[in-house]
Parts: sequence; C-alpha cells; structure tokens
Amino acid sequence: MTTQRYKFLDLAQVNAPYMDAIREAVLRVVESGRYVGGEECGRLEAGLQHLTGAPCAVGVSNGLDALRLILRALVERGDMQRGDEVIVAANTYIASILAIIDAGLRPVLAPVDMATLNLDTARLEECVTSRTRAVMPVHLYGRVCWDERLKEFVNRHQLFVIEDNAQAIGACAATDGLFDSRAAGALGHAGAFSFYPTKNIGAMGDAGAVVTHDADLADRVRALANYGSDRRYHNIYLGANCRLDPVQAAVLNVKLPAVESESAHRRAVAAVYDELIDNEAIIKPELTGADMVWHQYVVRCDRRDELQRYLAEAGVATDIHYAVPPHRQPCMSGVDYLAIGNALAQAEQIGDTVLSLPISTCTSVDDAKAIAAIVNAFK
Ligand SMILES: *Cc1c(COP(=O)(O)O)cnc(C)c1O
Repeated sequence: MTTQRYKFLDLAQVNAPYMDAIREAVLRVVESGRYVGGEECGRLEAGLQHLTGAPCAVGVSNGLDALRLILRALVERGDMQRGDEVIVAANTYIASILAIIDAGLRPVLAPVDMATLNLDTARLEECVTSRTRAVMPVHLYGRVCWDERLKEFVNRHQLFVIEDNAQAIGACAATDGLFDSRAAGALGHAGAFSFYPTKNIGAMGDAGAVVTHDADLADRVRALANYGSDRRYHNIYLGANCRLDPVQAAVLNVKLPAVESESAHRRAVAAVYDELIDNEAIIKPELTGADMVWHQYVVRCDRRDELQRYLAEAGVATDIHYAVPPHRQPCMSGVDYLAIGNALAQAEQIGDTVLSLPISTCTSVDDAKAIAAIVNAFK
C-alpha cells in the first residue's frame, strides 16, 4: 500500500501537546509510594462531576467494566432480575452487549434511526415486553442519543437509563435529562465512560468511570469494583477488581480540562467535511449543533470497500466502525437475545456501508480540505 499521507490516528501526536504535563503528573504518582487509589483518582472523579454536573463519579478499570458494574449494582440492589431486558441499538459496539449479558440480563436489539445511526426513538414501543427494565442509549460516534420521546418513554414505563458514553465525553443533549444535567453520561441514572487511548479523552492504557445521580448506586459500584468490599476486609458482594489505575488518572487529569478544545477541533474538521464533501455516492452524517463531539466522522457509501481502497491509494487512511454488528459475531450464537423488527437487517446494512474519515487532532483543517477534495474525486 502507498504511504498514508493523511493518517487516521496517531496517538503519540494526539498526546504530544500534553507530554510535559503528563511526565510530571506520572512522576508524581511514581514518587508518591501510593499505587492504588489516592489523590489522582479522586481528582479525576471530581473532574467528571464538574464536567457532567452529576453528584457522583467512580473511577474504574475501563469502559466495559463501567457498564458491567452499573448493571451488576442494579441487579444486586434488586432493581433488576436475571432475564430482565435492556433495550439497546442493534448497531452498537459489542461492549454494550457484553455488559448486558455479563449481568445476566437479556439484550433487546432495537431499530436504528438511519439518519443518526442511534436508537430510533420513534420505535421504542415495539421493543417493550413484560421484562423490559432498562434502556441503554449509546452515544455512538459522539452523537447524543437523547430526546423528548426517549425521556417520555422511560418515564412512562419506569425504566432505568444506563448510558454508554464511551464515545461522547463532553457532548450535550438538546433537551433535559432525567435529572439536573444535559451532559452526555449524566442524562439518565448512570453513565459509563471509557478512556481507552483512542477515545476523545484517552489514557495511556485502559481506564473508565461511572457517573451517576444515585449515591447509593455509586457506593455499590465502588464496592463491586473493589472485591465487593464496603469497608476493609468486609465483603458484601462477590465482587471483582476493577479499580482505576492512579497513573492513568494522572494522565487523564492533564487531558480532561482540554475536553472542550479537543471537541472544538473535531467540530471544525466535521464542518469542513460537511461543507466540502459533495459526491452523489456518499451520504454524509447529519451536522447537528454544538452538541456533538464527533468521536468519528462516519460517511455511508454502497461501494464502501471500493471507496476505502480508493482513499488508501490516494493517501487517506480510514477505518470502519464497525463492519460486523454484534449479532453476527461468533460469540453471540448461543446467546438469548431479542431482535425487534428490521433491527438486525439495519445493523448489517450499516456495517456494510459505513466508513470513518480521519477527524482527530492529527487531522488539521487544511488536511480535511484536501481529504474532502480526494473524496469528491471518487467515481
Ligand atoms: C470503547 C467502547 C466501549 C468499551 O470501553 P473500553 O474502555 O474499551 O472497555 C464501550 N462502548 C462503546 C460504544 C465503546 O466505543
């Protein structure tokens, strides 16, 4: 393959502006003699409370564990029982589904709004059974999945809302959440954050967090993540070890204050793509207001593989999020899930047509202009 003039993502380059501060912060942890928990972890939790307006945050090991711990805590509290159902968009990343199954719950793969590629909130009633207990909005590609219809639906059916906010840190909903915040991750009862290195705010390893308006739930998540222990050597749950690494917390405390400038850069690149890409073969994502944080800029094309090859040859690296939807993964063959209407066909169609263009801070506005011109020359 030709060398890629326009890289998709280069994490060393993304982190370069923060390196001096990160070196200092990591060294502080290394020299502190305290390597589990401690000040940096507490600071990150406070930072997330400040960012989202939610009163509670618990740093954990990664985004998948954040989702798993929320669901397990709801089960431990008796809010949900084994076999209860959680509604989730059929085209989500597999981690959303793994968390639901891991907690003994049943995923309900729901129809997708083909304009937003998020849950189709007009078709939620189709997903309801006597076992429905929760909805998991996934803010896919950085686009907030929240509107009045979704809010009315969860209120009408008294459902829990667990947000998969792995891709939308810093995003904001256009309408009020269930509590006193419009921030992605604090719209429902609890939200899961991922700081996987490629996410908008990425650590230098794995890290995640749970944000919630429910202090009792936060206590349970914290205990479950620490061997199920509510105080030293006293184990109330059959817990796990899913604690946040303070070295990662130190890295994140440097980067978290930049969430707004990172999002602004992504919005500027998306605006260039939206303005300049003009090719009949390509469907651009909807350009919404300032609420979206553009974790990915995902176009759709019926000849996607051809487009990807063409771009690679023209020096533009791309990626696909995600070619194979969860229900088509080998691990799902024995799993009891429910699929609603044409949801699976939609997820397959999305998997066959999506293509992510470069949009991180390694892609400048000038790069985006050049990439748009290359995209337009695709025949
Ligand atoms: C990355 C991601 C996760 C999992 O986060 P990890 O930190 O990698 O465990 C979950 N859901 C979505 C939508 C993601 O993009």
